[in-house]
Amino acid sequence: MSAYILGHKNPDTDSIISAIACAHLYRERGLDVVPVAQGKPAPETAYILERFGLTAPEVVTSVAGRDVYLVDFSDKAQAPADIDEANLKGIVDHHKLGDMTSTAPLECIIWTVGCTNTILKRMFDYMGFSIPANLAGAMLCAILSDTVIFKSPTCTETDKQVAAELALIAGIDDIQALGMDLFKAKSAVAGTAPRDLIFRDFKDFNMNGCTVGVGQLELVSLDLVAEMKADIQAELERVKQEGRHTALLLLTDIMKEGSELLMVSDEPARIAKAFGQDPALLEQGNLWLEGVMSRKKQVVPALEAGFRA
Ligand code: MG
Ligand code: MG
Ligand code: MG
Repeated sequence: MSAYILGHKNPDTDSIISAIACAHLYRERGLDVVPVAQGKPAPETAYILERFGLTAPEVVTSVAGRDVYLVDFSDKAQAPADIDEANLKGIVDHHKLGDMTSTAPLECIIWTVGCTNTILKRMFDYMGFSIPANLAGAMLCAILSDTVIFKSPTCTETDKQVAAELALIAGIDDIQALGMDLFKAKSAVAGTAPRDLIFRDFKDFNMNGCTVGVGQLELVSLDLVAEMKADIQAELERVKQEGRHTALLLLTDIMKEGSELLMVSDEPARIAKAFGQDPALLEQGNLWLEGVMSRKKQVVPALEAGFRA
């Protein structure tokens, strides 16, 4: 039985492409692995798979009895429900260390760079395997997606260097143009149900015993969702009622480099304060978080501090 290489729930481009890239690398090493995903590709990822001629990983919801390698996460809340019945063999990730553990020694590479595919490129280099041109193109796209075309505070010099190396392998001259193609594909919201928009890129976190769900939509303009906002807010209300203390959706304007925060919470004032905002501002509408683009580096740490206080 092949081991699974698995990204997080509500898969984004990085979690799907890193499963594919990691599987390619591990097969080169002689390991029996297969890339899988916890859901179908979102529009941006579908665009990348199509453009570079790659196949979407098989969707799995159960991993009991399997050897698994995790990519792009190490939090149980982002794993299949039966993850405790799987055998954790390895992790490649660029997030905070989660609550997964193993019964045997494992190969675990966690690095503070902007994208799991940046780490994988360096693993290909270190282990001495080459990357096919189409896979390099997709890995480059994952870096552009996760770092918001190098604008996110999570982006490092290593990400930029690796992106240039991948562009060379893939034969791509204009990295910025490729990035805009991606975010235009990602900005496809028209005709999408509010629930699907909220869960397109959504993660639950356990914060001091409270379940806090944080979704993010990265758009080239918030005008794209202006007319849908009331419906999205109503759906967010339902999402919150499904056992969460707080449900948040960040509407990130990648051109203005900030995020509007949609919120339904048992403690809205606590959330506002976590972001350094006056809770009185909530009466005037949604909070605008200037400069906030990264859930992992700006939003989750601020919330975790807020829930400890
Ligand atoms: Mg991810
Ligand atoms: Mg990532
Ligand atoms: Mg992301």
